[in-house]
Amino acid sequence: MTTPRVIVAGGGIAGLTLAFTLEAEAARLGVAADVLVIEAGHDAGGHARTVGDEGWLVETGPNGFLDREPETMGLVEELGLTHDLVEANPAARRRFVLRRGALCPVPASPPAVLTSRAISWRGKLRLLGEPWAAPPPPHADETVFAFAERRLGREVAEALVDTAVSGISAGDSTALSVRSQFPILVEWEREHGSLFRAMLARRKTATGRARLTSFHGGQGTLTRALADRLGSRMMTGRAITRVARHSGAWQVHMAGGPPMVADHVVFTTPAHRTSAAVRDLDRELADALASIPYSGLAVVALGYAVASLPRPLNGYGYLVARAERLATMGVLWESSIFPGRAPDGAALLRVFLGGARRPDVAGLDEEALTTLARSELVKVMGIADRPIRQHVFRWPSAIAQYTVGHDERVRAIRARLAEHPGLDLCGTACDGVSFNQAIAAARRTARTLAARLAPSSS
Ligand SMILES: Cc1cc2nc3c(=O)[nH]c(=O)nc-3n(C[C@H](O)[C@H](O)[C@H](O)COP(=O)(O)OP(=O)(O)OC[C@H]3O[C@@H](n4cnc5c(N)ncnc54)[C@H](O)[C@@H]3O)c2cc1C
Repeated sequence: MTTPRVIVAGGGIAGLTLAFTLEAEAARLGVAADVLVIEAGHDAGGHARTVGDEGWLVETGPNGFLDREPETMGLVEELGLTHDLVEANPAARRRFVLRRGALCPVPASPPAVLTSRAISWRGKLRLLGEPWAAPPPPHADETVFAFAERRLGREVAEALVDTAVSGISAGDSTALSVRSQFPILVEWEREHGSLFRAMLARRKTATGRARLTSFHGGQGTLTRALADRLGSRMMTGRAITRVARHSGAWQVHMAGGPPMVADHVVFTTPAHRTSAAVRDLDRELADALASIPYSGLAVVALGYAVASLPRPLNGYGYLVARAERLATMGVLWESSIFPGRAPDGAALLRVFLGGARRPDVAGLDEEALTTLARSELVKVMGIADRPIRQHVFRWPSAIAQYTVGHDERVRAIRARLAEHPGLDLCGTACDGVSFNQAIAAARRTARTLAARLAPSSS
């Protein structure tokens, strides 16, 4: 009997975690598995990489994760990286929102909204009516904005919810489905009839606050450790172009190399890339995948001498409300969040530009992006000096958008996949857009696959 070969398409955190967990789980079950990750880029990690540059540590994508996801913490432990973890500075709980040209502290809880400068008295009064909000329209896939407006009032929906959605997913709250993007809110409403009541009930049972966490060496610590463990079982610089079924096995075609044969193929690539690879195999599957939109964004990381900063960076950073009409979605004060992100006497900011509000921005060149980021920093923070370090990362397909109808799209994708035994999909296209969700989905998929490879399961 030959060892089954599993090809994992994509070497971001999802693909790397899947391959690592599959190998570990197969070993635990005493099953042989020949696992290979194929990654189009020249480095492992996808969006989650860290660039080290003479005392600066610059994240290309996520800067951390919440420590409440047991799968992430389990993975960190299995890799022996627990001692490398670092918690965010508690002062970074303080966040700001740019509204009417001013940076206002974001209220950290519903009662704090009542004393917040970010919301008018009218908005506050309306918010107090949350427990008596109208019920959801029957059978509707409500947008996040419609849900928030119905429950919290228009002002809070515009100033806080729309702004937070842009910051979390680079998305548009008037297009995203609340059921798909924030299922927990729908569940709270269903179970408690009110978000406030749900929060109070949770407070009684909560086991402590989730903490924003990263590694001393940045998020790349995790993706690098996974890639190191995989070693030659990861191939970089090869883009998968097509999969085909041939004589009972999968043929995986790549740009610039001969096809490879596999018993199982798991795609962790963005939906439109997976779509292109399966189009000849199953047009319906390809169309369903291609119908998941992505928003693009650019990250401009700027390092300054602390003396250049007109105000202290006393928090996490700020998000920008839509009405401000800026290309900036938000700015993270990275060196105030985690230690070691900038040399002594310097500070690192990351400016997030574009997203669904300004889809044109991710296509600009590096110079134009830097100029735009700096000009908006002058307006908001008054930073007129030149940066002493800069890095630009452009992500044209940064984050999957779970727009209204996403549930049906995912159902259609899963139904078509069921027709192709040995072909699977895992990652942010369908399993949640966050770093933790990518890891959790990869771990689940790996365990299911390992169990399927076990002889008794056939
Ligand atoms: C700027 C930014 C900031 C973010 N911040 C946060 C945050 O603070 N918190 C959070 O929870 N999440 C955040 N996210 C989301 C987080 O980065 C993702 O959830 C996670 O990194 C997704 O990992 P993935 O492996 O699913 O996808 P990716 O990282 O996109 O990896 C997919 C991989 O597939 C490869 N690939 C593509 N096409 C092919 C092909 N044809 N053949 C082979 N390989 C291919 C790509 O090169 C890539 O390496 C952020 C994302 C971005 C872009």
